[in-house]
Amino acid sequence: MDAQTIWFDDVARGIGFADADDFTRALDLKNYRLIQIYRAANKELLGAIGEVTTLPKELRETLEQRGFSFSSVEPVVVQRSNDAQTTKGLFRLHDGNEVEAVLMEHYGDRTTVCISSQAGCAFACAFCSTGQAGFTRNLTSREIFDQARYFARELATRNKRITNVVFMGMGEPFHNYVAVMGAVALLHDPHGLGLGHRHITISTVGLVDKIDRFTDEGLQVNLAISLHAPNDRVRSGFMPVNRKFSLEELMAACERYVAKTNRKVFFEYVMLEGVNDSPECARELAELMRGKLYHVNLIPYNTTPDGPFAGTPDPRIWEFAAVLDKAGVPTTVRKNMGRDIAAACGQLRAETQPKAHKLPLSS
Ligand code: SAH
Repeated sequence: MDAQTIWFDDVARGIGFADADDFTRALDLKNYRLIQIYRAANKELLGAIGEVTTLPKELRETLEQRGFSFSSVEPVVVQRSNDAQTTKGLFRLHDGNEVEAVLMEHYGDRTTVCISSQAGCAFACAFCSTGQAGFTRNLTSREIFDQARYFARELATRNKRITNVVFMGMGEPFHNYVAVMGAVALLHDPHGLGLGHRHITISTVGLVDKIDRFTDEGLQVNLAISLHAPNDRVRSGFMPVNRKFSLEELMAACERYVAKTNRKVFFEYVMLEGVNDSPECARELAELMRGKLYHVNLIPYNTTPDGPFAGTPDPRIWEFAAVLDKAGVPTTVRKNMGRDIAAACGQLRAETQPKAHKLPLSS
């Protein structure tokens, strides 16, 4: 399905129509009008239908009366970190559920938006605050996309644009596969945001059947695997999903992905003190990665309020990285951004007293 139809289907459902066709028939909208509206919302990034002056006034008013909105998510809290590099938003959906998205402005021109694909998460990784809170519901393609759209509008006021999007917010993207692929289509659409596939990364807890499905899509979208452990014993200890898909099955799916796409796989490895950070774990991980088109990202742990886990101290993270490096495994130690605003997955929603200063809210 094309991006425009995905978008209008969602808009139409939100205001009581069955789908895009039903909506366009009822309002007798010509296709060029649809294109105008879609571009105004997603390429020109206007705030509301009333601002689209190329549309007849009557049509604007009709759509306004119908409750037609350019965004399906409403910012309720927006915080910027003290170094101004990280901006975190908590967004309310039409039914009152809340999800988080984060904008990271790296030095240079790179801007990455991290978006949520579900309200909550069903996979219960022990170290993750979203996982601990449980699953509420899937987001629609537009609800996922609109988190990025919000930050695209905010950046535009400063003459900047989104360069990268990562599905590393709340939820498991491959547990909401179809909507996530729809969101990818919306992000990519040249008539909308126009983000290149290579600038989009989907991170999964490791759903083997969905990795295979994704492989078959033949897209240039990056794949990241939340590995976090080099063997079944350690991984099953804090990631229940590993009891469904073993490490061996997971790694086999990654090999099939590389064989078919010739694209690199990124492995996320969050450093948990005394859990997965021993030199032995580093050696095992190096064995698992050696000689493959794989890249390891070591992630400093963002401590969650009541969780039992502590992060590995930085010097030990670098020792761990050195073992991988020595084995020839491409490794990056991720910079921790936005610690002062609890920017790790699910943390803002879990907080009651935001500490950082707030930005004025805009839609
Ligand atoms: N469900 C997807 C996306 C989850 S969030 C997945 O599992 O990949 C993206 C990454 O952040 C995952 O690797 C997740 O394990 C990690 N993460 C979750 N909580 C974290 C925390 N408190 N500190 C650091 N990384 C965390």
